[in-house]
Amino acid sequence: MEDFNDNPYFELFIKQRQNQFAVGNTTYKQRVRTLNKLQHAIETTFREQIQQALQNDLGKPVVETELTEIYAIVGDIKHTKTHLKRWMKNQRVETPMSMLGSSSYIKYEPKGVCLIISPWNFPFNLTFGPLVSAIAAGNTAIIKPSEMTPHSSALMAKIIAEVFSEDEVALVQGEVEVSTQLLKLPFNHIFFTGSPQVGKIVMEAASKQLASVTLELGGKSPTIVDKTANIDKAAKKIMWAKFLNCGQICVSPDYVLIDESVKAEFISACKKWLHSYYDNNPKASDSYGKIVTDKHFERLSSYLENAKALDAKFDVGGETDRTSRYIAPTLISDLKPEATLLEEEIFGPILPIVTYESLDVAMAYINSKERPLALYIYSRSKANIKRIMNNTRAGGTCINNSVLHYANHNLPFGGVNNSGIGKSHGFYGFKAFSNERSVLKQHTFGVTELLFPPYTNMKEKLARLTIKWF
Ligand code: NAD
Repeated sequence: MEDFNDNPYFELFIKQRQNQFAVGNTTYKQRVRTLNKLQHAIETTFREQIQQALQNDLGKPVVETELTEIYAIVGDIKHTKTHLKRWMKNQRVETPMSMLGSSSYIKYEPKGVCLIISPWNFPFNLTFGPLVSAIAAGNTAIIKPSEMTPHSSALMAKIIAEVFSEDEVALVQGEVEVSTQLLKLPFNHIFFTGSPQVGKIVMEAASKQLASVTLELGGKSPTIVDKTANIDKAAKKIMWAKFLNCGQICVSPDYVLIDESVKAEFISACKKWLHSYYDNNPKASDSYGKIVTDKHFERLSSYLENAKALDAKFDVGGETDRTSRYIAPTLISDLKPEATLLEEEIFGPILPIVTYESLDVAMAYINSKERPLALYIYSRSKANIKRIMNNTRAGGTCINNSVLHYANHNLPFGGVNNSGIGKSHGFYGFKAFSNERSVLKQHTFGVTELLFPPYTNMKEKLARLTIKWF
């Protein structure tokens, strides 16, 4: 085995490795007790501190914290507790007649020692979410949250230290170097949430240890609004979904592809809803957040400058304030194809509106890009919806809504290729942290024994009969 003695996290890793079978052999009831402790910490003990940390890091309104962080985790824990007993049971599968005398089942066993690396945009949700699945599946875990949200990361470290012993779950804080060191260790599974660029680094590091990976990545998620859509309702939902968390959401509608004939109506409906959501003054509104760091503020401001330089039309917003890291909810149309806003994932409160002449052109545009994490369809035409579903690919889709597929624990969540590898949430999260061990148990004499050597003519005939009939 490689020598990891120089690695600052090796000792911690070894503690968890030594404890992995004790954790792995916990019963359903013991795992539920652990989940209860975590639930109590989030729902009760630390609830107000979580609200405050998110206010400090992201200017997150309390209602958004309640819904997208606390409820998201608590809901996940409740769902897991309801179903865990069944998920943990060995799953019987059929055994072919040719193996008469045996039975087969799948045992969901823990992967072992897992690494969870999380991003900053929903710090609690995207750290504790995977952790719930890791615990449910009986793993130990080392967590590395984002350095961009220091208040949230420090609080999570406190929560983890209160609820778990270090050899069960530990959290280490720090920047890229910390991830780099952790990624050198021979984890059994790595669950990474972040950008496709860093996802590639994680996968490369994992390949050195042949660790399995779940990569929850991002990219540009398109929203199609066709001419049959209820434009007012579409605008209402898209304006909510796009500007939630200031657009800093992996499944945020990145850009709108809209039928030319309904563009003007759509923009006017968007203005109406933005006015009603933020009282025509998002900067002063308690319902609107801020950009996470100066670096991200600069990045988004440069996208706006680039759009201006290319003579794009600012339909709404465009105002910025460096001191408060404020960027107004912004709608931009007439963008040239080379505009940065149409090339890079936006991850901020700017919505490009691109018109199309036919649905085929819209789908060809989407298919010319990387496969998205989410694709949203606003339409009242069953035929159009079917056409789009059959001729595009995406990690997930909402029809006549945005973002909400993320919140249904019964649906697998994740991307495809550039937007991710593997799935999470509910049973799919449990599976991501489990090895599906295949077990065949011999009960009586097995007919396969008739085919053991020496290979006589009779056995050859028997083999042919097996191929023909079983
Ligand atoms: P990021 O990839 O920059 O960082 C994510 C984590 O990786 C952080 O903890 C960071 O410290 C670490 N990291 C950064 N550079 C690294 C490196 N070179 N080596 C090892 N670790 C490194 O992502 P972010 O800016 O925190 O989050 C935004 C991105 O995450 C967007 O692309 C967004 O779409 C995506 N995202 C995806 C999901 C999802 O569930 N699919 C959820 C949220 C965010």
